[in-house]
Amino acid sequence: MSSLKIAIVGSGPAGCYVAERLGRKAKGAVEVDLFDRLPTPFGLVRSGVAPDHQTTKAANRVMAKALEKPEVRFLGNVAIGRDLSLDDLRAAYDAVVLATGAASDRPMGVPGEDLPGVIGSGRFTRWYNDHPDAAADVPDLSTVRRVVVVGNGNVAIDVARLFSKTPAELEGSDLSPEASRALAEAPVEEIVIVGRRDALNAKFTPTEIGELGTLENAAVRVRAGDVASDGEGALNSQAYEILKGYAGETRSAPITIRFAFHLEPAAVVAGADGRVAAMRFHRTEVRDGKAMATRETVDLPADLVVSCIGYVSEDCGAVPTTGGRLANEGGLIEPGLYVVGWAKRGPSGTIGTNRPEAHGVADRILDEVSAGDRPGRAAIIPRLEEAGHVTVDFAAWGRIDAAESARAGDGRVRHKFAALEDLLAAARG
Ligand code: NAP
Repeated sequence: MSSLKIAIVGSGPAGCYVAERLGRKAKGAVEVDLFDRLPTPFGLVRSGVAPDHQTTKAANRVMAKALEKPEVRFLGNVAIGRDLSLDDLRAAYDAVVLATGAASDRPMGVPGEDLPGVIGSGRFTRWYNDHPDAAADVPDLSTVRRVVVVGNGNVAIDVARLFSKTPAELEGSDLSPEASRALAEAPVEEIVIVGRRDALNAKFTPTEIGELGTLENAAVRVRAGDVASDGEGALNSQAYEILKGYAGETRSAPITIRFAFHLEPAAVVAGADGRVAAMRFHRTEVRDGKAMATRETVDLPADLVVSCIGYVSEDCGAVPTTGGRLANEGGLIEPGLYVVGWAKRGPSGTIGTNRPEAHGVADRILDEVSAGDRPGRAAIIPRLEEAGHVTVDFAAWGRIDAAESARAGDGRVRHKFAALEDLLAAARG
């Protein structure tokens, strides 16, 4: 009997968890090809999770298990839309799963957001995680004293924390020497984390908000009036309590991390040099959980604005999008075409959230799709080879992995290759 041929596009957590489930449940009866446009697997675990959160990055060990299965093949450095089209995959495989995440920063939609000194969290986190796309996008932090971080989620906390950590606190991370130097030399004095709603509606989680209070170089400031309620109705009551605890903080430190609520982005204000000078907000009132802008405006001086307000998915070559996600019903886009992870549900949840969801989509595929006479990799791999395309398989990723670990300097667990050509050279060994 012919085996089921499945292509997965994107080797982040969602894609790996689909591969893991298919490989386990249809052992010996499925061929899963996991494509990634980068020569490296693991998506956001490698290039989104903060470099100082290595425990979270350890999720890649579980994900690697999926790629080691005999049913699963990693095909890195193959971009769908460049090296192959979505139609090519749909013709060659019984089903295609899009696990392409949400790669673009959600725009604030305010005048001035393209000014130098304004950066989205996707671009910023790709930079400090050595993503090849960020090579041309290195932010100039050399004169940054005041940072405004827009958004009240964990990514906002990641950004504030990385600006604040001492070199000693970054030991054991995989932050590159270049990013370490740029962050250490940035003369940051104040970071304001701004929410458009109130503290009750902040999306921080307790561990992340709690970690800010442990930083040697940073003192956290929360206005007592912003955390005066008993916490009833808080999105995360434990995180709210921690925030409330900061209201009594009096310790001073070289960097102040200040929380400001009830402020919705209105415009980015330029200075005489054409760079950002301030972020302008409308003061808001929160009604029925929604931020309603008032006429009052507030300017927060800023040398850098990092907007951490979420991400939107790209359309993967003409797949309809809705609200920043690929339009789908329970993971199904149309017969034979599925979607998982952030591209399916939007940019929310932890890495672990993806596992049950990806397993659900994998089970659905096994229920709905039967093996036909599609060629799968037997057609696709020769085609890539004929085009002279360099494909990075799992063994070649192992060589990149080993080379990055071997060149880690003092206090670092890894020194990533940021340039595509260096990644490909390491893949060759
Ligand atoms: P998030 O948790 O959804 O937070 C996004 C924030 O942006 C919210 O405060 C949201 O406010 C605000 N926002 C959205 N549109 C806005 C606009 N136009 N103007 C002003 N504010 C706006 O997203 P995230 O921080 O990007 O994180 C993404 C996911 O990854 C989350 O599930 C997060 O928990 C997870 N993550 C986890 C960790 C960790 O576990 N350590 C680290 C990083 C990320 P509203 O609430 O008012 O919409």
